[in-house]
Amino acid sequence: MLSITSAGKMASSTTLKDAPSKLTSNVWNHFGFSEGSDAKATCKTCCVDVSYPKSGSTTDLRQHLKRKHSVDISDVICITYI
Ligand SMILES: [Zn+2]
Repeated sequence: MLSITSAGKMASSTTLKDAPSKLTSNVWNHFGFSEGSDAKATCKTCCVDVSYPKSGSTTDLRQHLKRKHSVDISDVICITYI
């Protein structure tokens, strides 16, 4: 269970930038960037930082949404399961 009781306060004290428009995956609807931290995306739902590779792969972000929030984002065009 989430126990974030100060979400309102956090929202006002934390500056969360939206993802750049070049990041078109709809996973970015659920993540933003904290000030000065472009290497980590911040989940807009639980305010947790999730690191992601510079390659722009959003696999880790998708897994976070799926595991933590049961949000399944399936805009993957080409993926290989081994
Ligand atoms: Zn989250």
